[in-house]
Formats: sequence, structure tokens, C-alpha cells
Amino acid sequence: MRKFDSNQPGIPPTYRGRLAPSPTGYLHVGHARTFWTAANRCLNAQGTLVLREEDLDFSRVRPEFSKGLLEDLGWFGLDWQEGPDCGGQFGPYLQSRRLDFYRETLQILFNKGLIYPCVCSRQDIIRSIAAPHANEEEPIYPGSCRNREGRIGTRVNWRFRVPDGDAVEFVDENLGPQRFVAGIDFGDFVVWRADDLPAYQLAVVTDDAAMGITEVVRGADLLLSTARQLLLYNVLSLRIPRFYHCLLTKDEQGEKLSKRHNDLTLRVLRDRGWSPEQLRMKWVA
Ligand code: GLU
Repeated sequence: MRKFDSNQPGIPPTYRGRLAPSPTGYLHVGHARTFWTAANRCLNAQGTLVLREEDLDFSRVRPEFSKGLLEDLGWFGLDWQEGPDCGGQFGPYLQSRRLDFYRETLQILFNKGLIYPCVCSRQDIIRSIAAPHANEEEPIYPGSCRNREGRIGTRVNWRFRVPDGDAVEFVDENLGPQRFVAGIDFGDFVVWRADDLPAYQLAVVTDDAAMGITEVVRGADLLLSTARQLLLYNVLSLRIPRFYHCLLTKDEQGEKLSKRHNDLTLRVLRDRGWSPEQLRMKWVA
């Protein structure tokens, strides 16, 4: 069993939080709620808020979504101190400009013998570029390529070999103690893709560590991803941030909001006359 403690002892670091939207659609009220929580936790801790655009999914990213998210977050009343629009000492703040950082991480994992090339053509490899939200979790990989060897740069997918049977335990700041077992709750996961782009899990860990993030606030559907990421923090000897997972906002049918819920995007609601305050009141109700 592995217990993961955040921000190990020593001088408490100054709070650094982040908003990590993907410009693959317009933001909806569910995003706004999570981001609002992130911004408030940062404000209460008198910290610095970083805006990082996770724009690696080139097939879905569009310039209007990128412009839109800055506008929508600003309209909603959120304020950040570092980001693609205002710079900062931990930039660049667009993932598409940070590929060298990700390659370095890949190389470390490779040198340590922790990853292997996978030639299986599977949906999870296609999906690995984006964070796996509700109902998008990949099936446990059966391990067909586990003993395969290869060289980096050979246009092949790379998977991280998880320590089968090990429990990953951590205490979430919102949801309390969490426990997931490698090989049962999640399997070997993709860290790099044959199209020479990092998978979400590798990119997000690399960035949260390089940007000195002390607390990650995001949706509860990413709890399993946090377990995977803790394994990466561990083998890379990176400082582990705290995690605060927010409960998800559902629609009237009880379904999790997604970018398909066009009528619940911030811009549609704004055009219909809603104010940010009225939207926030709904959360309290
Ligand atoms: N860009 C990811 C998303 O929008 C963020 C996931 C995270 O906060 O780690 O789903």
C-alpha cells in the first residue's frame, strides 16, 4: 500500500492554485462552479492563481474556444495572476508550447524502465489526450505489450506499467480518504502517443509540478486520474500537491454536464440575461 501525503513537511509553501480549462468547447456552469471553488480557495489562502490552457487535443481545440474561455471566466468574475494573457514566471501557459517539458518527463520514465511501447490500437490511446471525465474511463489494459521494448522517438504509444495490487491512498481536501488499487481500479495507462503528443496524465503532472501548484481543484470524476498521477509524482520524485475534488454539477435529468449541454454554457446563459450572481445563487439553493 502506498500512502501519498501532500506538500511534505518543511516550510509551508505559499498557495498556488490553477484553472486548467481545455479550449475544446465553450465553458458551462459546471466548469464555472469548479473554477469558482478553485479561485475562492486560492483567494482565502492569499495565493496565486494560474490559468493554464490545456490545448493539446488539436483535433478539437479551436481558437474561438480559447478566446471564449478567457472572456467567459472574466465575465464570471474570475481573476488570475498568471496565464497566457498576462504572462508570469512559470510560463508558457499553453500546453501546446510546453512540449519540451513533457519530452523530459517521458525520457525520465523511459530511463527508469517504467514505460513500454504499446502497439495495440485501442480507443483509450485515442482518448488519452484528454482528461477522462465521467463515463470516459478506459478499460483495464490486459498487458499484451508489457514486455515489449523500444526506443523513444519511434512513433509508438507508451504506457506506464502500474504496480499491480498496490493501493494508492490519499486524503482529499473535500471528499476525505480515497483508496484505489492499481491493476484493479485502473491499469497500465498511456503517457505518450504515437502522434508524438503527451497524454493528459503525463502533461498535467509535469505542469502542476513545474508551475509549483500546491493544490489541485477539479471535478470528482478525475479521482481515478489523481490516483494515476500520484504514481507518476512518486516515481518522478516530485512534490505532491493537495487535491480538492468538487462534486459534479448535474442537469435536470441527473446527468453530468458536458460540452454538449450547449444551453448551459456561460455565454448562452449570459445572452439570456443571467448574471454571474444569479448563477451562483442556484448552487446555494
Ligand atoms: N483540462 C482538463 C479538463 O478540462 C483539466 C483536468 C484537470 O484539472 O486536471 O478536463
